[in-house]
Formats: sequence, C-alpha cells, structure tokens
Amino acid sequence: MADKILAVKGMNDILPGSVPRKDKLPDSALWRWFERTVDRVLSQHGYQYLLTPVVEPTPLFVRGIGEATDIVEKEMYSWTDAMNGDALTLRPEITAGIVRAMVEHNVLYNGPLRVWTLGPVFRHERPQKGRYRQFFQLDVEALGLPGPDVDAELILLVRRLWQALGLEVGRDVRLELNSLGQPAERAAHRAALVAYFEQHRDRLDDDSRRRLHSNPLRILDSKNPALQSLVDAAPTLAEHLGAESRAHLQAVCDVLDAAGLPYRINPRLVRGLDYYNLTVFEWVTDHLGSQGTVCGGGRYDGLFEQLGGKPTPAIGFGLGIERLLLLLQALGLPVPDAAPQAYAVIGDGVPLAPVLVALDALRAAGVAVQMHAAGREGWGSLKSQLKRADASGARFALVFGADELAQGAVALKPLRDAAAAQVLRPLARPETWAGELLQG
Ligand code: ATP
Ligand code: MG
Repeated sequence: MADKILAVKGMNDILPGSVPRKDKLPDSALWRWFERTVDRVLSQHGYQYLLTPVVEPTPLFVRGIGEATDIVEKEMYSWTDAMNGDALTLRPEITAGIVRAMVEHNVLYNGPLRVWTLGPVFRHERPQKGRYRQFFQLDVEALGLPGPDVDAELILLVRRLWQALGLEVGRDVRLELNSLGQPAERAAHRAALVAYFEQHRDRLDDDSRRRLHSNPLRILDSKNPALQSLVDAAPTLAEHLGAESRAHLQAVCDVLDAAGLPYRINPRLVRGLDYYNLTVFEWVTDHLGSQGTVCGGGRYDGLFEQLGGKPTPAIGFGLGIERLLLLLQALGLPVPDAAPQAYAVIGDGVPLAPVLVALDALRAAGVAVQMHAAGREGWGSLKSQLKRADASGARFALVFGADELAQGAVALKPLRDAAAAQVLRPLARPETWAGELLQG
C-alpha cells in the first residue's frame, strides 16, 4: 500500500458528526448551523455578503496590518510567484482585502455600505487547541460610517448573535472595550511608553526589547508573565486621550448602558493590528483556557487612505469560528438536529425503481429521507439496516420489504416511540402519507 498523505499541520478537516474523532473539533452540522444563524442575524441588520480572494499581494498586509506586528513579522504564508515574480500572501485576516476591494471598485462612491463574509485565514502559529494555522473567520464591516452610533450598533449585533447561538452574556462571554484615540494621541502615548520602558530596559525580554522602538504598544500585549507587573504600571493611553476621543467612547458606552449590555473598559486592550483607532473591543470567554478571545474588532478610520483610497471611516470585527464552536461544545449547549426524518431500508431482491420513485416523491413533498444504499458486504441484512436507521436519528424507518411490496405497500416503523405500532402505507401514493413523516 502507498503511504497515506496527511493534512498540513494546524489545518483541519471538518467532518460530518457521524464520524468519530479524537480531537473534538466541531462537526459540519454545528458549522452549517452557525453559518445559517449568522446569515439570518446579519441580514436582519442590513449587512450584505461579499467574497474576496484568499490570496492577496503581500504589500496589502505589510502596509495594512503594519510591518512590526506579530502577524506580518512571523505569521504570514508568503511566497514569490514562480511564473511572474509577484509577492503573494495567504490572507492572515480579511479586513485589508475587503478595503482593497472597496477602493479598487470605488464601491463607497454611492455612500456607506455594511458587508460581511466568512472564510479561511492563515497564520503560521504554534498549533494547539483553539489555535490553528488555517482557521475560519466571520468578518463584519461597516464602511463609510464615522460612529459612535454604528460602533454601538455593531457591538449590539454581536450580542444578538450570541443570543441566537444560545450564549449568555456574563456567564459565557464578556465584552471588553477601550479607545485607541487618534494618531496624535497615540504618538504622545507612545513617546511616554518608550521613555518608561527605556527606564526599565533591564527587565524587558528579547521580544520586547526588539519592539521598544519599532512597536512599543505591542509590549503591553505581551503574554510573558514576568512582564506583567512592569506592563501594569506603564503609562496608559487614557491619560493621553483628548476631549473628542473621550466623548466618542462615552457615547458608545451610553448606548451599551441603555441597552443593558455590561462591559469592562480595559485600558490594556490594544489589538494586534496597527490600523485601529478610537473604539476597539473584544469578546472573551473563560471556558477556552488561554485561547479565550472569540471575537475582536474596532474602528480603522485611517486604513482606506493607507491603502490608496479616499479618507473613509470604518469599523468591523473578526470572529474565530473554531473557537466559538469549541465554546458551544464546551458549554454543552443543545446542538441542532441533523437527523433525517426517515431512513429507507430495502429488502433483498426488491426492485429498485419503485423504491427510488417513492423516495423522490417524498422529498418533493418536503421530507428528509436517507436511503440505505448497498455498500460493503454485511451492510445489507434488514437487521443491520435497521440498526443504521436507528443510529441515523431518524424518527421513522421506511421498510421496503418483499412482503410489503407484494401488497403494494411500504411499512412505516416508528424508531423513537416504543409504544407506537408499525403501519402500512400505499407505495404508489407517498404524497398521501408524507405528512405523517413531517410531524413532530
Ligand atoms: P489571539 O490574541 O488569540 O492570537 P488575535 O488578536 O491574533 O487573537 P484577531 O486577529 O483579532 O486575533 O482575529 C480575530 C479572531 O480570530 C480572534 O478573536 C480569535 O477568535 C480568532 N483567531 C485568531 N488567531 C487564531 C488561530 N490561530 N486559530 C484559531 N482562531 C484564531
Ligand atoms: Mg494572534
């Protein structure tokens, strides 16, 4: 036998729930249910779907996310196209590509736009639970709107999504909020930070020393426990915010207060991408260990200009789909039912044409029916077929046996209700009894 070829490390297969797997990754039924829920909540808020490429020119991310960020420094899958020498990158996030598309097609010429998409992103990180090299993001962006009204609306939208998914704010997920102010305010804060960390240079680790002049803000985001006390005493951006920035944050908070959404202002929340200003937020959970951020976003009023567009205010967020589904699983929340309504078992020597025609008619009437098709030897006896019917979760087995067929009938065998008896129904007219399968 030839060697098996395995998936790339850190990149996952999402499989049907009937497939047992050790790694506890969410199954495709949960995944699809999430997608349907998102679709409903977002269209309810006036967001339109779009798709952008998974591969983009490398400079898009170097310029957009920022040269001195973790993502650009060490997490991107970049290469040179062997055919034409183009510098290309697998997208490590989706916002920059969306902004590129908006600028390229002059989309905002006719006014603001709310868009969303969902798809794979790639980061070369150390794989662990909740952290992968290919993962999926839901990405939601409100473009051309200065806020603070839309900032608050976007945060409330996420709360609606939690509600639709069965998550409880406070118990399962919490909101953290901050303002990154405007570029001039950040420059003043940055200068104060550099001065402070210069004073304590001997206590910094190598990573932080390297960042001291390239990106001192990222030191605040360090995951090194030895740096925590130093970081905690560092000058805060809040001390450097002007009246307008403070008012913007206050206006967002006023709406959240009025809507009864609890939050914590976290002055240390800086986010790992350089393009943010004013409102930034994260939704975090205590149920996923150190991979606790399920959703993060903020305002990026400068990004359009950085990418060659006209000045355009915008805000958005990215949500990690694997993490969110792992959270739903960890909480043991009820998952959607992917079971068929009926499972067709077919006796030996029974002619296939009338069976398939009957199943087709049932589906036309709206019934979800799964047919037991002959596979490997030993899958075929009526008894083993009925076992599979039971395992499928269907409420009824449809028994197409030779005896039933001789009477022009099919048997409906209830699988979930031990007290209910099997009944015969006319094989030729499934539409007259399809309703019985749909009930319940
Ligand atoms: P973290 O601090 O956990 O690395 P991040 O700030 O890098 O997260 P963002 O760039 O804000 O993450 O991406 C948005 C969301 O995508 C995160 O909140 C998280 O849920 C998810 N995410 C980020 N990196 C990964 C990864 N490597 N694997 C799975 N999900 C991820
Ligand atoms: Mg990260």
